[in-house]
Amino acid sequence: MKAVQVAKTGGTEELQLKEVATLIPDQGQIVVQVKAAGVNPVDTYIRAGHYPLSLDFPYTPGFDGAGIIKLIAPDLHGKINLNIGDRVYIARSLSGTYAEEALCLPSQLYPLPDHITFAQGAAINIPYMTAYRALFHKANALPGEWVLIHGASGGVGIACLQFARSRGFKTIGTASSIEGQQLVKEMGAHFVLDHSQDGYLEEISNITQKRGVDVIVEMLANKNLQNDLALLAPKGRIVVVGSRGPIEINPRLLMAQESSILGLLNIHVLEEEAFRIHTAIVSGLQNRILNPVIARELPLSKAAEAHTTIMESKAHGKIVLIP
Ligand code: NAP
Repeated sequence: MKAVQVAKTGGTEELQLKEVATLIPDQGQIVVQVKAAGVNPVDTYIRAGHYPLSLDFPYTPGFDGAGIIKLIAPDLHGKINLNIGDRVYIARSLSGTYAEEALCLPSQLYPLPDHITFAQGAAINIPYMTAYRALFHKANALPGEWVLIHGASGGVGIACLQFARSRGFKTIGTASSIEGQQLVKEMGAHFVLDHSQDGYLEEISNITQKRGVDVIVEMLANKNLQNDLALLAPKGRIVVVGSRGPIEINPRLLMAQESSILGLLNIHVLEEEAFRIHTAIVSGLQNRILNPVIARELPLSKAAEAHTTIMESKAHGKIVLIP
């Protein structure tokens, strides 16, 4: 089978499509025929060697994917609710998802409703898990509260908007391209602003009648955190989801509103927590509250282009690789 392999950390040229041995499930394992693999910013950080993860080289990148169950280890027969031929989405794997096949544990597979395409299925795990944790576990956002999704046009931002809409939050979403802003509007944001334009911070203040927002889900904290502090209502919460460097902040702003800055890193999610979140996600997919948006499908051979695009282009949904 074909798999993208990384022999050492480095640039996008390290993403090489290779012929590798077909996967055989060991005890307790399942092989999924991958129909689509999700590309996340973290895949690029790991490839570049900027992420605290010990790697066995060569490795196949990718945490997210979707496909069809191909093989189930005999010891699992009759013990799990998964069968050969089932459509599933992948939430991490043992072998990496940028490949024609992925080796998974049963706890890493969730049912993919028939109306959700494989490409959409590959756009679920990291974005929706992150959005759920940011809004509900970290910020404890409440119906009627103002939620600013600071970077709403990408994978996590769109997932945030869909959860927010289902819970009755009042939302402001930002994006810097026309396509991204259009998408944010379609996803149900009450107000859409452009984070690349001067004056948008004042607009946020005006929208909330100078009261400020209750929650900020922040995708680029190294750029925005100091400004975010000034946008908060009393007892406001900022969830730092993304940050690509340091920033200086004035802690007096935290004191003034008794506000909180909360960090989030999915590496810390325990199996039980993941199971509960995915149960909520599957339910949201089934009742059509959640509907992943795909910006671009690229063949597996274009993994390098996918990594460049996700880091350099304006977002309007997810990029997925098709084996
Ligand atoms: P993505 O699909 O590439 O989207 C990136 C988002 O950031 C876009 O909405 C983009 O908007 C926005 N953005 C760019 N410049 C911005 C600015 N100056 N202010 C506010 N937003 C800005 O990435 P993603 O999957 O949604 O992830 C978003 C970030 O969270 C990434 O940095 C990622 O590494 C991180 N993340 C962290 C975790 C965790 O466990 N902590 C999990 C998932 C993701 P435009 O393109 O419209 O400008």
